[in-house]
Amino acid sequence: MERVIGIDLGTTNSCVAIVEGGVPLVLPGPSGQRAFPSVLAIDEQGQRLLGQTARRQAVLNAEHTATALKRLLGLRFGHPQVRQLSEMVAYRIVTGPSDELRIVLRNEQFSVTELVSALLLDLKKAAEAYLGQPVTRTVLTAPLAFSDAQRIALRDAARMAGLDVMRIIADPIAAALAHGIGTSEHRAQRVAVYDLGGGTFDFALLEMSSGVHEIRASTCDAFLGGQDFDRRLLDYLVFGFAKDHKIDLRQDRTALQRLRDAVEKAKCDLSVDEEVTIEVPFIISTGTSEPLHLHRVINRAKFEELTEDLVERTIQLCRGALSEAGVEPHSVDAVIVVGGMARVPRVQKALTELFGRTPIGGVVPEEALAVGAALQGAALSQTPSASTTFELSPHHLGLLVGGGKVFRLVSAGTQLPYEAAHVFTTARDHQTALRLVILEGDSELASECKILGEFVFSGFLAAARENTEVEVRFSAAQNGDLTVTATDLREQRREQHTFRLTASLLSSETDGSKSPLGSYELETQRTDELSRNQSRAEQLISDILGMLPKAEQAVAGSELGLDAMRRARSAIERARIAIIRGESVAIVDARHVLERTAAMLRGVTASLR
Ligand code: ADP
Ligand code: MG
Repeated sequence: MERVIGIDLGTTNSCVAIVEGGVPLVLPGPSGQRAFPSVLAIDEQGQRLLGQTARRQAVLNAEHTATALKRLLGLRFGHPQVRQLSEMVAYRIVTGPSDELRIVLRNEQFSVTELVSALLLDLKKAAEAYLGQPVTRTVLTAPLAFSDAQRIALRDAARMAGLDVMRIIADPIAAALAHGIGTSEHRAQRVAVYDLGGGTFDFALLEMSSGVHEIRASTCDAFLGGQDFDRRLLDYLVFGFAKDHKIDLRQDRTALQRLRDAVEKAKCDLSVDEEVTIEVPFIISTGTSEPLHLHRVINRAKFEELTEDLVERTIQLCRGALSEAGVEPHSVDAVIVVGGMARVPRVQKALTELFGRTPIGGVVPEEALAVGAALQGAALSQTPSASTTFELSPHHLGLLVGGGKVFRLVSAGTQLPYEAAHVFTTARDHQTALRLVILEGDSELASECKILGEFVFSGFLAAARENTEVEVRFSAAQNGDLTVTATDLREQRREQHTFRLTASLLSSETDGSKSPLGSYELETQRTDELSRNQSRAEQLISDILGMLPKAEQAVAGSELGLDAMRRARSAIERARIAIIRGESVAIVDARHVLERTAAMLRGVTASLR
């Protein structure tokens, strides 16, 4: 029986696991290490370097070393995260056809998907070397905040690496599965998943019982992770060295690379030892005198002092998400930690304080996601039909409306089975037929989506425009069948057709070359409702941001007040995520929360006057 590999493509490190004799096993790379740095470089000789080797030369060959690729996957040029990342990395990110990203390494342009695919291929090869047989099937994990476009890009990259993706599961769910939660017939359990990696922080609150996983709350900071902790230590050393020798070590690339390595190692050692000695001999030569060495002893207390606010920020984010969901931290049944940084004792301590219980052990934090994916893969391969059923709706679904736009009825990631309906009106007076074009894909433009199917619903009385109301209902079953029912509300006449949801869209399926769309039109009273809600939410965010400083001043010191401010920030965060993901229902929810938050802040600031 062919094995399914579980893959966690990380921002900093990736990991691959299998299940052998019912037991998950994390697979080693060629040099025995179990973490595969998600780094790809091209050296001066034009040779491709991957993983550890690429990472080791990263600072020295910064312009030609691609790091943090996961953050670019599935995004287009102009996305705020692309802009933010391009300020942090030394390699060049340029724009390719239709705003796609291109990465320039040694004058050659690569797509992000292509580079990520090289990383995935490396993991696939490691698994094949270990098993001594080819591997083609995989289960991947992805952050909750990943959009449909990001998931599609991940799937494309895996396919390019010769992998057939059975399923993409959400990170926190993978983490829970790795700890055996949600698999047996236990009562529903509330699980908090805290994931602090090299550059990102994610938190989710799940409610899990057998087969049903509900995400109650989530939050993230795409730019908070181990690197920030390293940076604090590095600055501390650089500053100390400058005081003693009047030399800024960051100006020398070789010195900086060695210092970075030393600092990260020291940080990891401090997770076990109370005190470490950082030693970088011959760190720099001044030309005139003897070469200088760096030597410094650092204890855990100093490290904690330097990074206290970073840990605190993650805890604040957790608190915000919990209170937004109306969940008391102490009512959580289990706390799971994920990511290498979760090994830091201060992090564990802060979590224990917050939840009143220690995080569950047993699974190595940076391996939990790959283990969860491997367990899911093993479960899927035992029930052959399972791979053709869907847990979540794989893509956004909608109908073609005026202007070549998509009216979205269902968002990707919606739990199956589901029903969603919307009432449309005819576009022109005396219109007697409607053509319903069902579209699948992540774009708002019909031309960039796949046509799942279409039919003409006809025979209404030639009534005046907007007088004919047609309800369109999407009902999706677990097996991927989508039934579309159109009902003429006046005459209660209906017509029904069944289509198949597509498990994964090839990019060629979304290029719009399939069918001319221009001639069909369906008008809706509420087409612009999404954009109205969105601009209102954006307005509220900016109002709230304007009021916050004053409000914070007003509540200074009071525990209740501080809690309210935290909730306000978390409301903004959630609204931003909903807007980025274009989820109409979530945007409406977020809008209501923002309205309440704004009203609350107005009250607080008014009482200040
Ligand atoms: P990502 O999810 O970002 O791909 P990981 O989960 O592998 O990455 O986390 C990587 C981060 O964890 C790095 O900043 C690394 O220095 C840190 N890390 C790894 N091991 C330890 C440890 N023992 N103690 C503290 N930090 C660690
Ligand atoms: Mg990770």
